[in-house]
Amino acid sequence: MPSTQPALSFRETTKRFGEVVAVNRISLDIEADSFVALVGESGSGKSTLLKTINRLVEPDEGSVLLEGEDVREADPPMLRRRIGYVFQGVGLFPHMNVGENIGIGPRLAGSKLSASRIGELLDGVELDASYAGRMPDELSGGQRQRIGVARALAGNPHILLMDEPFGALDPVTRDALGGRVRKLHDTLGLTTVMVTHDMAEALLLADRVLVMSEGRIEADCTPHELLDGAGGLIAQKLVAVPRDQAAALAELAQ
Ligand code: ADP
Ligand code: MG
Repeated sequence: MPSTQPALSFRETTKRFGEVVAVNRISLDIEADSFVALVGESGSGKSTLLKTINRLVEPDEGSVLLEGEDVREADPPMLRRRIGYVFQGVGLFPHMNVGENIGIGPRLAGSKLSASRIGELLDGVELDASYAGRMPDELSGGQRQRIGVARALAGNPHILLMDEPFGALDPVTRDALGGRVRKLHDTLGLTTVMVTHDMAEALLLADRVLVMSEGRIEADCTPHELLDGAGGLIAQKLVAVPRDQAAALAELAQ
């Protein structure tokens, strides 16, 4: 297989919910090892597009290819082992401890994670191995989110999908966890797609920013290009928010 094969490809991918075209004929390739942010207003189709990758949503038309293979041809448990997924709102099982939550994917696939592997996954998100025995309701929001990331990585996936992973966190925790995930992406050689409504986060973490609006990709730019004014009106409206804040802060500091 040539190494230039995209990790993910959308081919005229379309998903409707009644009258709503949530994803409207999207075609694009995502290169292996890239960190892509999918940004856009609420309801623009970000979550739906992300879920077509791991078949939580089946497109009405078009297809999605994972490392060259149509995801419809893939067996769903196999697919979910190749794709780590951090849910919007994390969704830990409240009656299972942290170790059991982290091991749930492999367990459903018929294997048990060793305590040392759970410790290694916890270490990856900067938590001590002793957290394995804690219950989700004993953890802070940031810690729960870290467990969500560790759980997504439990099956050694090539691809990491995250749906607003840091949405509910305070800004300091959010920043630290964002940086940590970017490091994991780099050291594990992942291909990452992160949904966020926060353009600042997208600009700071991603190699490539896709801006979605009404089911379509309105802009497909590097952070640099966006900061240089590229991507069109919708993208620039989103970029203006952190830029104006930065300018206002710089003025205050003078
Ligand atoms: P985003 O993640 O950008 O907020 P979504 O992908 O969740 O957007 O939703 C895109 C559009 O599809 C919205 O209009 C939403 O109401 C609609 N939608 C999403 N999921 C469903 C569903 N399961 N049933 C009906 N409509 C849905
Ligand atoms: Mg969403």
